[in-house]
Amino acid sequence: MEERVSGIVSLETLRRLGYLPTEDRLRKGPVAIFECIEPIPCNVCVLSCPFEAVKMEKITDLPKVDFDRCTGCTLCVAQCPGQAIFVVDASQDGEEALLSLQYDMGEPPDPGDRVVLLDREGNSVGEGKVVKVYKHKRSEAFVVTIAIPQKLLMVARAFRKVGRGES
Ligand code: SF4
Ligand code: SF4
Repeated sequence: MEERVSGIVSLETLRRLGYLPTEDRLRKGPVAIFECIEPIPCNVCVLSCPFEAVKMEKITDLPKVDFDRCTGCTLCVAQCPGQAIFVVDASQDGEEALLSLQYDMGEPPDPGDRVVLLDREGNSVGEGKVVKVYKHKRSEAFVVTIAIPQKLLMVARAFRKVGRGES
């Protein structure tokens, strides 16, 4: 798999691995998108999900997500050591969607801050606005939820803070 070399996963691969919910499920409310493609010995997501939405037979298997059970709570996002889980919410009317992701680059942004959205390759693809930030007690990781343009739902996967003086 080319992604194993580049570290950049394609939508095609995510679809093939069963990581992409249907359009209907996406419209229903927040749901986890797993982008975990390496069969490493890790089952943190299975253990961190209070809704039994993630399954794995062997610890080296890739996670299997039950999108009907997933509530989009973000607890797996906060605890995934590979930062390979995102929660997206495309249930709102209009042009906006929500993206929740783990952040470990120092102080997180504050709610209300504007951020530059980046794709999987680190390219700037647009702008978002932070709506929520929390720190998970056990992992101590921050989970940042950002309002993003709907069209970037499957594109934006990171962000950088907008520095002072940047417009
Ligand atoms: S977002 Fe919550 S419900 Fe969904 S898989 Fe993660 S921990 Fe489970
Ligand atoms: S916790 Fe993250 S890295 Fe570990 S198996 Fe789950 S998705 Fe993959």
